[in-house]
Amino acid sequence: MVHGFLAAEHNIWRSACIAVLLILPALATHAMADPAGDKDCIASAFEILPHPPSISVYDETGRFPRENLVALQRFADEAAKGIWQYLRVNSTRDALIILSDQFRTPYSEGPDTFGRGKIYLPAERYLPDQPERSRLALHHELTHLMAPGKLHGARLLIEGLAVHVEDRIGHPNYPDGDETPDDTVRAIEKKLAFRIPLAQSEAVRLEGPTGEERRLAYAQEGSFVGWLIDTKGPAAFMQAYTCGDPLATEGWNLTDLERDWRSWLYKSRTM
Ligand SMILES: [Zn+2]
Repeated sequence: MVHGFLAAEHNIWRSACIAVLLILPALATHAMADPAGDKDCIASAFEILPHPPSISVYDETGRFPRENLVALQRFADEAAKGIWQYLRVNSTRDALIILSDQFRTPYSEGPDTFGRGKIYLPAERYLPDQPERSRLALHHELTHLMAPGKLHGARLLIEGLAVHVEDRIGHPNYPDGDETPDDTVRAIEKKLAFRIPLAQSEAVRLEGPTGEERRLAYAQEGSFVGWLIDTKGPAAFMQAYTCGDPLATEGWNLTDLERDWRSWLYKSRTM
């Protein structure tokens, strides 16, 4: 229990910290050169840090020996560095990875006002001898924490970025393991004999009637973002993604982009 005086003192310190943190984002964005250093990014909802997050691991199950947790931390550090090198954007100061029996699906929370984020990983999926083959979706969840996007930005790009980053630098990916999102889209569309328009992708990803349709939604968002990044360049993509509503960027009309992406996806291929 916290004593009244200590609690009041804590609140003063907390207010001081919040005041400093409100100033920091503006300073940090001025200090950065690329790609989120543009003045428009001052309007971003998140602090932009010039380094990857500091990572800690907590074993909620109490089953894993210390060396297993060290291996997971090392793997997560490498993942965060890889994402940082690829995107050059990070909004999470401290990321706590929790191995848990309680949460069956990997998911992340944050970053909060203090730049802290949490990732819950299902302990049953962790293979200490092969962290990289554990299907923890760690790159996916770290991408959410490091590049949360604008609060009201296009959600399909936020999810697509996480799928794409995991596929590009962190196999196996979610949702389809060693298959690329591009291959997954082609395979499921062929099997189902229909397509989900990108404008409806998020509704299907969240509430699609079958697991296959939800997988298609995830995969097509990843494929689309991968194509956007390769077409526009990582810096231009991250600039639009971090600094504003990407699909409101001039020349980024979703209908036109979807047509060009699909034409690339099926170019010189037969369904
Ligand atoms: Zn996600």
